[in-house]
Amino acid sequence: MRIQIAGIERHSSVNGPGVRYVLFTQGCPHACPGCQNPDTWSPTAGVSYDTEDIINDILSTKYIDGVTLSGGDPLFQAKPILEIVKALNEKKINIWCYTGWTYEQLDSLQAGPEAKEVLSYLDVLVDGRFVLSLLSRDCIYRGSTNQRLIDCKKSIQEGKVVEMTSFNYGL
Ligand code: SF4
Repeated sequence: MRIQIAGIERHSSVNGPGVRYVLFTQGCPHACPGCQNPDTWSPTAGVSYDTEDIINDILSTKYIDGVTLSGGDPLFQAKPILEIVKALNEKKINIWCYTGWTYEQLDSLQAGPEAKEVLSYLDVLVDGRFVLSLLSRDCIYRGSTNQRLIDCKKSIQEGKVVEMTSFNYGL
């Protein structure tokens, strides 16, 4: 399956805990004022890849503690992202995903069934649009205070949003 990609960073230390492979997907419908990556909004810009090639590249990258899906909004391309997270989950790779949708919106299918299914393969979802008036430098791994670091597996298990604490961020 094809996926439109804005960029790849194989060893990042600022997009989640540890050293992480970061996939920046192309396309975002949220148009948050103050967004740092407006070049990723267009669904047609960037480079088209096959999901198999992305999966193989991740699996052959050494010295990573996990994978972070960022963008753009990765869940804007939920079908190919679902393929990728399923493959990574089989290899027990820690997965974080940023999205402009809230957990509740995804859970109630507002971004479609595949986007909801992706949640079950994630360790952490960083959710919600970036809100410039709520910008804070104190929010670890987030831009604004409305965004949450959500423990996806516990949230699904408990049927409610369970946020990560600063002492346990999913590695
Ligand atoms: S969700 Fe993220 S990428 Fe999309 S407009 Fe908002 S800040 Fe930018």
